[in-house]
Amino acid sequence: MKRYLPERETSELLLAIVAAGAVGWFFGIAGWTVAAVLVLFLWRSLRDLERLREWLRNPEQDVPDSKGSWDEVFQDIYQLRRNERRSRDNLLNIIERARASVSALEEAVTLIDSAGNLEWWNPAAQALLGIRPRDRGQPILNLIRTPSFNRYFQHGPYEEGLKMASPRTPGQQLQFEITRFGDNDRLMIVYDITRLHNLEQMRKDFVANVSHELRTPLTVLSGYLETLNDQIEDFAPRWTRALSQMQQQATRMNNLVNDLLMLSRLESQPEDREPQWVDVPRLLRQIHHDAEAMAKPKGQSVTLEVEDGLCLLGREADLRSAFSNLVTNAVKYTPDNGLIHVRWWSDSQGAYFRVSDNGIGIDPVHVPRLTERFYRADAARSSATGGTGLGLAIVKHVLMQHKGHLDIHSDLGKGSRFSCIFPSSVIAGTIEH
Ligand code: ADP
Repeated sequence: MKRYLPERETSELLLAIVAAGAVGWFFGIAGWTVAAVLVLFLWRSLRDLERLREWLRNPEQDVPDSKGSWDEVFQDIYQLRRNERRSRDNLLNIIERARASVSALEEAVTLIDSAGNLEWWNPAAQALLGIRPRDRGQPILNLIRTPSFNRYFQHGPYEEGLKMASPRTPGQQLQFEITRFGDNDRLMIVYDITRLHNLEQMRKDFVANVSHELRTPLTVLSGYLETLNDQIEDFAPRWTRALSQMQQQATRMNNLVNDLLMLSRLESQPEDREPQWVDVPRLLRQIHHDAEAMAKPKGQSVTLEVEDGLCLLGREADLRSAFSNLVTNAVKYTPDNGLIHVRWWSDSQGAYFRVSDNGIGIDPVHVPRLTERFYRADAARSSATGGTGLGLAIVKHVLMQHKGHLDIHSDLGKGSRFSCIFPSSVIAGTIEH
């Protein structure tokens, strides 16, 4: 049961009433004396209530002086207030520390509300993005006006981030990363990746230059080796093996240089450079024809199944390179008399190019790394087949340029399935001339 009256106070009041009643009864004015006690009690309570109100209005004043239960009430409120002030100070301290640490970051941090307006930013955002105090509440798209940022901000996908040249500092490269939180608010972090970008560019330029410079001496060497091989009968028999090996290695180096140059070109060309409708069924018939010639000596069967008229928006030379790399790999890594099936089809989600074989397969531990340059599941077998180790890296880059991706499924000893998946935005049922 709830207690509405404090015990001590109640017993004091009762005692006072009884005492006053007794005295009053003695004088014959019991009603008056009891009433006087009650009025006194009421007056004291009202006085303390007024003190409480006064104190609540001016919390800086000292705790009012009182007796009995009222004093306990004052002390309890005082304690509550002290605790509340302490936790508020703690909270403010945490907020201040969080703010100070975010302010000390070299990365630009900005908070954007659900309407896309700038809410808060740190000093680095001022330096990297040129945001000024008067920009608070402005739409972020008014402050960063490049089309690529507009696309990224409005449509994402946010987890992929966006790399772009700084709109205000020439030569500076920035990376934007946006995360949603709360009620569709956005946290945007911007990194200065100029150094990384320059290093990456240096690496790309170096590989491209070396490959390019190697081309001329290799052509000369290969030319002479070919001439010498044509006149092989003029040489002593011990030279025959040496000459054929030299030519084999020269061809391998040539393939390497060509693959490296192709990769450099793929990395440096913009994604949407002159795309055209590519007649994939026709392209695949040519690739199939070449694959059959390669597979014939091994007694392999290469079958082709295509959806006629299914075309892809892109660059024919690059697609040819990617598709034939996958078909050639299937022939290379499938033992004699194996089966290879090539398929090109579409559904409501997009288009698919798939090469399946019942060859040696790949251990699942290698699958995630297969598209890295020079990564080989079985290095000895791969060099024996004359591979450069760059084929799947080229496939990955070509697919990226065509908004597609590669899916690899393989069972060791049973076979592999390499699928290129393209979104419906780059396919068409008929060629548009
Ligand atoms: P390579 O020139 O060595 O063939 P790739 O980049 O084309 O280089 O392929 C990388 C590795 O993936 C190969 O070395 C091989 O181990 C493995 N691989 C690729 N295709 C197949 C396949 N169809 N079956 C089994 N292994 C494959």
